Amino acid sequence: MSSDRTVRMQQLRVAVVGAGAAGLCAARHILSRPDTFAPPIVYELTEHVGGTWFYEERTGSYDNGLPIHSSMYRDLRTNLPKEVMMFPDFPFDPQLPSFLPHQEVQKYLERYCQSHCITPHIRFSAVVDEVSPVVTEGKGPMTTWEVTSRDKSGSQNTETFDSVFICSGHYSDPHIPSIPGLERFKGKVIHSHSYRHPEPFSGQSVVVLGAGASGLDISLELGRSNAQVTLSHGKPTLPFPLPYGVHQATPVEEIQEDGSLRFQDGSITQAQVLLLCTGYNFSYPFLEPARLGLKVQEHLVTPLYRFLMPPAFPSLFIIGICKIICPFPHFHCQVQFALAVLEGSVALPSLAEMEEEAQGEMARKVERGVQLRHMLKMDKEQWGYAQTLAQTGRFAPLPPVTQSLYEEGEGWREIQRQQRRRRVMTQSC
Ligand code: FAD
Repeated sequence: MSSDRTVRMQQLRVAVVGAGAAGLCAARHILSRPDTFAPPIVYELTEHVGGTWFYEERTGSYDNGLPIHSSMYRDLRTNLPKEVMMFPDFPFDPQLPSFLPHQEVQKYLERYCQSHCITPHIRFSAVVDEVSPVVTEGKGPMTTWEVTSRDKSGSQNTETFDSVFICSGHYSDPHIPSIPGLERFKGKVIHSHSYRHPEPFSGQSVVVLGAGASGLDISLELGRSNAQVTLSHGKPTLPFPLPYGVHQATPVEEIQEDGSLRFQDGSITQAQVLLLCTGYNFSYPFLEPARLGLKVQEHLVTPLYRFLMPPAFPSLFIIGICKIICPFPHFHCQVQFALAVLEGSVALPSLAEMEEEAQGEMARKVERGVQLRHMLKMDKEQWGYAQTLAQTGRFAPLPPVTQSLYEEGEGWREIQRQQRRRRVMTQSC
């Protein structure tokens, strides 16, 4: 990269795909370094910022036929306290409670966008159709990127950049598990991506598949709305007791000839709705992964050096693929590290060393018996990761309070569990 830059002697042009939290964070830090970077172009397929946090009552498609992006449901409250969730340099309104309704996060992101004067650099209703590298030989190989986008009228335009930040989100392409006989189910099958509120399910029998954050949350909402809920999952225990009307079951093994569901323990039930809370696939329809040396699987993208960039193309950055993280602080660190790479203040190892590091990390996890779908879970490892990015990229590390509050969060979650327990007992009386 450094030889590229000395040849160019001009501001680097960066494209950002998506104006959700990650894309806004990228734009904010690019704009703060005008000596090195030209103002970015942020392509956003919707007409607003916020991505996931912009609640869409609609499900299915937008007017232009593209699938609805946000998986937000009406009554969602954040599962991280605002003090941990915030970008470290941009607090939430101190008057607000710690756990927020989603509307407050949307307002926060809009305020972040305004405060950092990002809006003029966003192209709304612009869908990125293709991002492809162009490698030319000068004093060594030099990569630029062609970004092809489509506006509202459908006309396409290709522009050239020195770097691209992929901030298109990872919670939009529903993962549908392969359940033998699924096509035989006679009721309605929906994914949590298209769940908005519980009222349409009142009085119905619903099997919720998966007890992750959404599966648990949605089961409770449905139970409170008088649906008969069976929460089917493979976890040994749940973090809180389930309210009246919500029962547990082992994972669904098969849909039988008559449309009934057979669970792993042999029990059988009929249901009107099968609600899949089974997560999301990684999906980059605008990239050609093989050309970048990448393999994109349902739950994994490899190899990515520092979970961020393809070793062969260290001017393309995929922000936020890791799970069990504090997303906004994580984006804040990844973006600054990426910009330090582009500025040349991080000396990257050789291609072979970067590949070795990225592959080695995965191989060690396989040896430890980590399943493919859990490979990108960070949890406690996120702090060391963020610290390394900050040290290498020479920017301010996350304040220690983010980690201590996150760890204290267990205490908060316990309080939430107790509140839920109390609600359950009140309902049962
Ligand atoms: P997104 O918010 O998904 O933004 C991506 C943007 O890219 C969108 O605006 C989209 O329109 C745009 N885009 C996509 N493809 C294209 C294209 N081809 N061309 C142009 N634009 C494109 N995190 C927390 O910290 N706390 C929580 O409590 C929390 N709860 C969550 C609850 C739910 C139901 C979900 C789904 C996620 C939750 N998260 C939570 C995680 C959340 O995803 C992150 O906080 C964060 O919003 C992700 O930001 P992002 O910018 O990576 O992606």
